[in-house]
Amino acid sequence: MRIGFGYDIHKLVSGRKLYLGGVVIPSEKGELGHSDGDVLIHALIDALLGAAVLGDIGTHFPPDDPLYKDISSRILLAETLKLLGQNGCDIINIDCTILLEKPKLLPHIPHIKENLAHALDLTSSSISIKSKTKEGLGSVGQEQAIEAYAVVLIQEQTP
Ligand code: MG
Repeated sequence: MRIGFGYDIHKLVSGRKLYLGGVVIPSEKGELGHSDGDVLIHALIDALLGAAVLGDIGTHFPPDDPLYKDISSRILLAETLKLLGQNGCDIINIDCTILLEKPKLLPHIPHIKENLAHALDLTSSSISIKSKTKEGLGSVGQEQAIEAYAVVLIQEQTP
């Protein structure tokens, strides 16, 4: 078994949608990014690539590549899963924390979990998504940014 860790941060700006785990969350601001800016999926991709020692999101999906302009991060996640599969890895479980001042994410967590379970071909009992505020502190607390952390456990596929 191997463990992987991922982190991401995006600026929050008006006029962009807030994507989390492939779900659009009603919000005044959304993530600025080359892709759709889905900070949760980006942290998760880095955790998955890290666990499999396959580099990071920037090496596989360069942010200056026009191919990835405004791309859905779900497509990047699917590509990452394909890479893990080619390297004989299965996901056991994932645990994520999103840091965001507002809106409150609790009502949206079941939908995010369901969406990720579908994307990762896991049961939602293998997926933990937590959210917190930063109590008004720093860029996240000032509603200028959103952060996500992800930890994953993977195992070698059984023949
Ligand atoms: Mg990112």
